[in-house]
Amino acid sequence: MTAGANGRGPGLRSPAVAVIGAGVSGLCMGVALKKAGVEDVVILEKAAGLGGTWRENTYPGLVCDIPSRIYSYSFEPNPDWSRPYSPGPEIHGYLEGVAHKYGVYPHIRFGSEVEDARWEDGRWTVRISDGAEIRADFLISACGFLHRWKEPDIPGLDTFEGPRFHSANWDHQAPLSGRRVGVVGAGSSGVQIVGEIANRTRKLTHFQRTPQWILPTLDRSYSRLTRFLMRRFPALNRLSYRMWMLAFETTYGAAFVEPGLRRRIIKGICRLNLRTVRNRELRRKLTPDYEPLCKRVVVSTRFYSAVERPNVEVVTEGIERVEPTAVVTDDGRRHELDVLVLATGFDAHAYLRPIELHGEGGRRLSDAWSGEPWAYRTVALPGFPNFCMLMGPHSPVANASIFFVAETQVAYVMQWIRMWREGAVSAMSPRLDATERFNEQMDEAMPRTTWVSGCDSWYIGADGKPAVFPWTATRHREMLSRVRLEEFDVTPGPPPPSASPPTAERPAPTPLA
Ligand code: NAP
Repeated sequence: MTAGANGRGPGLRSPAVAVIGAGVSGLCMGVALKKAGVEDVVILEKAAGLGGTWRENTYPGLVCDIPSRIYSYSFEPNPDWSRPYSPGPEIHGYLEGVAHKYGVYPHIRFGSEVEDARWEDGRWTVRISDGAEIRADFLISACGFLHRWKEPDIPGLDTFEGPRFHSANWDHQAPLSGRRVGVVGAGSSGVQIVGEIANRTRKLTHFQRTPQWILPTLDRSYSRLTRFLMRRFPALNRLSYRMWMLAFETTYGAAFVEPGLRRRIIKGICRLNLRTVRNRELRRKLTPDYEPLCKRVVVSTRFYSAVERPNVEVVTEGIERVEPTAVVTDDGRRHELDVLVLATGFDAHAYLRPIELHGEGGRRLSDAWSGEPWAYRTVALPGFPNFCMLMGPHSPVANASIFFVAETQVAYVMQWIRMWREGAVSAMSPRLDATERFNEQMDEAMPRTTWVSGCDSWYIGADGKPAVFPWTATRHREMLSRVRLEEFDVTPGPPPPSASPPTAERPAPTPLA
């Protein structure tokens, strides 16, 4: 079995493409392939629905921490966002709409968890958990990076008798009204959950190991007139996308990677926001001992007022153990609870693992990544031909909209596929020396970023280095604007069906525009 039906295109070969994951980046890949006339595409999705993190996370208060206007594809700016920071279900609905509109839905094979993939005879053989095998010329990982949730290793956790669940696996049957609810974790998820449910619970105990810096947002609805105008005048909608993108990229996005005034202003806003907490003792508990922007900034207008409510307690003592009806902290206090929510984050360094890849000469992904995950220019890996990653290691996921990043990487992969279709290559993977050079350059740039300013976060790998891109998303786009064949080991392709010049040095088109 191959990935699907044949592609079209005069004088072009038709590749079979297997994409793993139907989230933001997998759908983007599907749209680009459809637009290029590649029809032999299968998107392998382990779940029963699309949307990745936006399908999985359904917790109360789920709101995006990137402005709505740029949290969308450039080719499909959404005129109907209800708020400047979109609620999760709206984003999920948007992704569903895109998959339908661009004809990607029929290419998604739901309930198909990939177990491993093997490069043999110049193609990938992808094995699915149901035993099926798919043959593909290109294997593209679009697995995302926040999907393997982490449960804390707390003694007695399993003995808790009430509902207990991770924030990414919300139990909507668990009653909250009038109950004593504990929330462990003060990242984006924990803060949003506390802000949303505080007024519903009898008692809310927020277990906070490390306080977070919090940026206030615009918490209001877009007016009906705004939405009407955005719908009625698509050019205005597109202009709005571009203006927001420019503003975001040159201010907020740049502040993380370039020292200077922008960074100082954002830090100042975080500090001023903290001062809105009136209770001094509480403010002390909520004051981080590291610089703003070091961890991922949490965006919320509701959290500080929520934790000042009389029914809410912020507990900063460490959790010693969990008992059937309580959490016991280091100071010996028992916090009686009916429901326990674990907003304890994700293994952001898993990427496509536990999927195993067997590359050229049997080289295994688990060996290549026996230390921290690494990549060539965020998208490829030496020894793994015709394998591309979207949102792979060191992608700019910390200071950019992942839609923008996905489009950048997809446009790059499409150049690669185009070369294959024209017969310029049949297999290629990045050279080790070029990959090492890229990683050394990142190491050199990292000290200028905020992520190394002295805190622990999900950006930091086991080697103590941040696994994110130390420059702006615009620089990432420039870096991936063309495929540098000189940095690849290339197996030439067969002669194309008709003459067509290779595109190795051709500048990238504006992604998907
Ligand atoms: P997170 O940022 O990794 O936060 C996990 C929290 O759990 C931290 O406060 C951590 O404390 C705490 N924790 C972990 N293990 C613990 C333990 N054993 N005892 C006590 N506390 C423990 O995870 P997240 O909040 O799910 O967010 C992850 C990322 O997902 C975000 O940064 C964001 O990029 C994305 N996200 C986005 C949105 C959005 O856009 N709306 C919403 C949710 C998530 P320490 O800080 O001390 O480790």
